[in-house]
Amino acid sequence: MKVLITGGAGFMGSTFVEQFAANQFPEIESVRVLDALTYASNFTRIEKFLGKRISFQHGDITDERMAFKALSGIDICVNYAAETHVDNSIIDPNKFVIANSVGVGVLLNASKEIGLKKFVQISTDEVYGEIKKGEWNENSIINPRSPYSASKMSGELMVNSFYATYGLNTVITRSCNNFGPGQHREKLIPKTILNLLENKKIPVYGNGKNIREWLHSVDHARATYQVILHGKKGRTYNIGSGKRVSNINLIKRILKLMNRSESNIEFIEDR
Ligand code: NAD
Repeated sequence: MKVLITGGAGFMGSTFVEQFAANQFPEIESVRVLDALTYASNFTRIEKFLGKRISFQHGDITDERMAFKALSGIDICVNYAAETHVDNSIIDPNKFVIANSVGVGVLLNASKEIGLKKFVQISTDEVYGEIKKGEWNENSIINPRSPYSASKMSGELMVNSFYATYGLNTVITRSCNNFGPGQHREKLIPKTILNLLENKKIPVYGNGKNIREWLHSVDHARATYQVILHGKKGRTYNIGSGKRVSNINLIKRILKLMNRSESNIEFIEDR
């Protein structure tokens, strides 16, 4: 099985590539990475693996020519490529609409044209929005609350339309928050650690009591491999860990581990 990993130079895509390089995914014969190498990418995370089994194509998923080229000879496409930082989506939503919605449409159309065997869309649990109590399942109401999550939902709708209209074999995953090596410093855990190391304050939105669920990026890569192998046509799968913590308690835990006081926290107005 030949797999295209879009966004494979980013945090989670590169973790998938790294796990493949470490022979964790025996059913996959080769991996091709397509990545636009935006500010969020880290090419050094995959450069060391490039060779016979792992190749790289520099390009944008919104570019039709690039999409066709990247998909040629491929069996399964896993679309990790996206603009991913919620704060940036509030400042500049256009980029998110283009990458996370238009880009998915371009990839899907090329997938349909070449007769791709399976298309896996990496989406997010952020499409559910907020709940006061309990947890979501795949049939819960969708209520994205930021341009980021709305653009990801828009991508999902395109995926489902290609399943319903053309019978393309599509699967969607909605993961909770990931953490692990190689995450960009703009995200909560690396930002907290690096700010402390640089003697900067840690910004906390609102009262910090929002609860998030966390999953290690290697576990996400393993779950994605299972979806590649066994995900059913047209289905959506939540990927979670059951490990939940409020932002403020997570930050306090990091402060404790790094032997720092809570005076390093700075509360700021919610997004
Ligand atoms: P990231 O920002 O670290 O990496 C994204 C990668 O995509 C980068 O390498 C970037 O260069 C590439 N990219 C962006 N736009 C592109 C385009 N138009 N064409 C080609 N490449 C492009 O993101 P991440 O945290 O690794 O997230 C990967 C995927 O997982 C995203 O689709 C995201 O929505 C989803 N997701 C992330 C989390 C999380 O906690 N990080 C949780 C759930 C779902």
